[in-house]
Amino acid sequence: MHNYLLEKQRDYSGACMKELPDILWLEEIRKEDIAAVGGKGASLGEMAVIGLPVPRAFVVTSHAFRRFLVETGLEKTIFANFENLDVENNAALEKAAERAKEDVLKAPMPQSMVQHILEAYQKMDAGEMIVAVRSSATAEDLPDASFAGQQETYLNIKGNPNLLKAIQMCWASLYGARAIYYRAKQGFDDNSVNIAVVVQQLINSEKAGVMFTTHPVTGEPLTIIEGSWGLGESVVSGSVSPDKYIFDQRSEKVVDRLIANKKIEIIAEGTHGTKVVPVSPDRQDMQVLSDEEVARLAMFGKIAENHYGVPQDVEWAIVRSTFYILQSRPITTIKPKGTPAAYGRAETGSTIILKGQGASPGVASGKVVIVRDAKDTSAVQEGDIMVTKMTNPDMVPAMKKVAAIVTDEGGMTCHAAIVSRELGTPAIVGTKNGSLILKPGQIVTVDGEKGFVYEGAVGIQQQAQVQAPVTAVHAPIITATSVKVNVSIPEAAGRAAATGADGVGLLRIEHLILGLNKTPGWFITNHKEEEFVRELYDGIKIVLDAFYGKPVWVRTLDAPTDEFRNMAGGENEPIEHNPMLGWRGIRRDLQSKDQFRLQVEAFKRLWEQGYSNLGVMFPMVSHPDQFIAAKSMMREWGVDVDHVTLGIMIEIPGSAILIEEFIEAGINFASFGTNDLVQYTLAIDRNNENVAWMYNPKHPAVLRLIHDAIEICREYGVECSICGQAGSEPPMVQWLVEHGISSVSANIDAIPKIRETVARTEQKIILESARSRNA
Ligand code: PEP
Ligand code: MG
Repeated sequence: MHNYLLEKQRDYSGACMKELPDILWLEEIRKEDIAAVGGKGASLGEMAVIGLPVPRAFVVTSHAFRRFLVETGLEKTIFANFENLDVENNAALEKAAERAKEDVLKAPMPQSMVQHILEAYQKMDAGEMIVAVRSSATAEDLPDASFAGQQETYLNIKGNPNLLKAIQMCWASLYGARAIYYRAKQGFDDNSVNIAVVVQQLINSEKAGVMFTTHPVTGEPLTIIEGSWGLGESVVSGSVSPDKYIFDQRSEKVVDRLIANKKIEIIAEGTHGTKVVPVSPDRQDMQVLSDEEVARLAMFGKIAENHYGVPQDVEWAIVRSTFYILQSRPITTIKPKGTPAAYGRAETGSTIILKGQGASPGVASGKVVIVRDAKDTSAVQEGDIMVTKMTNPDMVPAMKKVAAIVTDEGGMTCHAAIVSRELGTPAIVGTKNGSLILKPGQIVTVDGEKGFVYEGAVGIQQQAQVQAPVTAVHAPIITATSVKVNVSIPEAAGRAAATGADGVGLLRIEHLILGLNKTPGWFITNHKEEEFVRELYDGIKIVLDAFYGKPVWVRTLDAPTDEFRNMAGGENEPIEHNPMLGWRGIRRDLQSKDQFRLQVEAFKRLWEQGYSNLGVMFPMVSHPDQFIAAKSMMREWGVDVDHVTLGIMIEIPGSAILIEEFIEAGINFASFGTNDLVQYTLAIDRNNENVAWMYNPKHPAVLRLIHDAIEICREYGVECSICGQAGSEPPMVQWLVEHGISSVSANIDAIPKIRETVARTEQKIILESARSRNA
């Protein structure tokens, strides 16, 4: 232990651990005091001492935690929970973690400790201070053990009972399933890991974010700052695309800035907790930081880096003209997408020549190839940038070859967006005129996260960074709400399963069939029915095998007639004025009985093979009679309909309104297809970029339909899920979990953040109910 604390130890008469203080103020702490105050506390103390503007704080020391364990007798009992625990066994891990956390939460804190904590809190604005309560594990934040994010932080805490409860919650978080798992994997003994708790003035920031004091990939003297409105949590959690600024320490100038469209902010709510609110339209595209503010933050960053001797990852906040540095820790790992490590060279001195909606994340450079229709795809070569009005299923083979995709039309739910995300190919949609502005052979760089196309090759190295696995720091996050994944092409099944998702909430089989370049009608007319069934059977089986033992909801065909047009047999498709409202989904299958029968034949064979994890979902249903009719046809074709899982998509307001009648008709589950539900509720073509700005899954009318349908599903105990794009958006998922959805299904790339959102929301619900019980 650092001499400083040893000196203090002597001051506290007697050298035994028990007599070390329960509380230390930041000014009393040095960076070596990790054993007493944890990584976060030690770092904050050191920062305060070197003069950085750190918000006022005290630390409830690890000695206090140990004293709590000893004096309550927990030290003797709690670790029995982990004896012989197989941490790879999720159920056992979760059970042990729950029991240990409950033990910690139930044990009464020693009275003298309560007194010390409350005395310290009293000194902060006479006990009126709103604080952030953050756990600070003694193994956390070390350069060789990046344990970041495993223990909890509680924001916006006010009042004695809330404070004491939050401290105890932080202690309990030491025994969360993830934390136990990591310790086991890293070889830490549970009994030897301590936890301290930082109680710090909450900065109700007007703007906040993160800073890398040196370029995290190249090591250049470039400070990279991300910032957005409200609390910094929105930037740290990745729930908002923040502004990005690059400050060159040599010229002391801002050399690059990207002003993002900041749709949401996180602000304090009531006396505890935070809430997500929309950013007012006038501030969405406004620059968050002035050049002077960037320079000042960079200076603080440099002070921290110089002091610690290694590049730092810093959290900052600003209230009016007051700057705060909230945290600083060494940069230890490559960050996931959306953090400064992921953008690098694409932002330095490059010219943006085109903008659209970032639909599939990643950065790639290459030669532009303009594709007007499927015939042009023969010119597409490996590594090209495909630029087209809108992709079609017949372009999928070419889409698999290219490095990035840019379309004129479309939104986040269009064909190009869905397929690109599954292929892991960067994509930008809705550029309006990309196919006119970009020229064949031109070299460009596509940033599929921000939606920018840059002139020249400016990000080739970065692609590897962006696609670098984020899994290095993944642990099983266990959620009560199941987190499933969407799949459209069997090639993506492996990547989808590797996310650890709890099943597949939507397998779109039309991509499987349309990729064959022949319409279902062609197979029937040309007596190739068996070939059609085999293709379906094989494709679905790949996904079922990848998710063995987990539910896979396979949706019957749902392709608008215009998507069939370019294929063999497409000449027989009817020409419809509005295919989106036309002959698609179950309404077509019930009339094109052969087409439906062949799909059912593939399902039947899979069920007969023992794939009981296969569930079948009917799209575009608007009346329970359709479900009843589909079921009776299946029965007629030999399916034991009472022993298989059958459900519906809720994509039409009519089906949301009639959910009770659907339940009475025997559905086993329902899943909100918000891509269509939004378009049919609000009369907004989902693929029309001119009205994309009005396309809002959180429109009150859509939310009311969803809310009412969830309530009824819960009443009847019917599983209720979401598989539209909104299920990949954290604020929407938070809302859905708060309103009782039983399952969500997200895109492959969104699974980590959705899992985290679900876990966070569930914990908040539990915490709030525990608090109201206590109150
Ligand atoms: C939906 O409508 O939300 C959905 C998932 O189906 P698709 O996007 O295939 O129409
Ligand atoms: Mg749909």
